Amino acid sequence: MTELNFEASKLEALCKSLEPGFFSFSFKSEPEKERVLDAGPWSFSSNLLVLQQCDHDILEMYYDFSHCPFWMHLFGLPFGRVTTDTVREIASKIGEVLDVKLEAKGNITYKVGKARVHLNLAAPLKTGVVINLGSKKLWIKFKYERLPHYCYSCGRIGHYATACFARIIHNPQEHRPLTLYN
Ligand SMILES: [Zn+2]
Repeated sequence: MTELNFEASKLEALCKSLEPGFFSFSFKSEPEKERVLDAGPWSFSSNLLVLQQCDHDILEMYYDFSHCPFWMHLFGLPFGRVTTDTVREIASKIGEVLDVKLEAKGNITYKVGKARVHLNLAAPLKTGVVINLGSKKLWIKFKYERLPHYCYSCGRIGHYATACFARIIHNPQEHRPLTLYN
């Protein structure tokens, strides 16, 4: 059993390896566990750690690790349109929206919207979306917080471009590098 330090939350948990790539974490209290769950996503050596609440009545093979919450910043909205409703609506095109915040960034006086979205890890990360605003189309660019290893070729989390099945199966020229953010 190993003691694991969840640095951003300043909390520790006892970690037990159940099988390769599958771990059990024990926290000192329920509130500490909730704080760690709320502060994710977590990574170990830049590999994503997908956390699920333990249920003693569920067989290990039936846990669903296909989704993980990430904070996603939205850039490109006119400042008068940066509202929680607009941010929620745009973010809902990517996945289930768990939370929305508006916050000031650096020296910028107006606020930027961000949403905590339950991302489908099997799908490529989107770099943005086109939205209709009145008669105009706008490109809304996404920037993800605390992004772990992901593939520059297909945009999926969990492997490098050198081990990308999409690149091996298809013509590598068709896969242009993606620009995402940490
Ligand atoms: Zn890939």
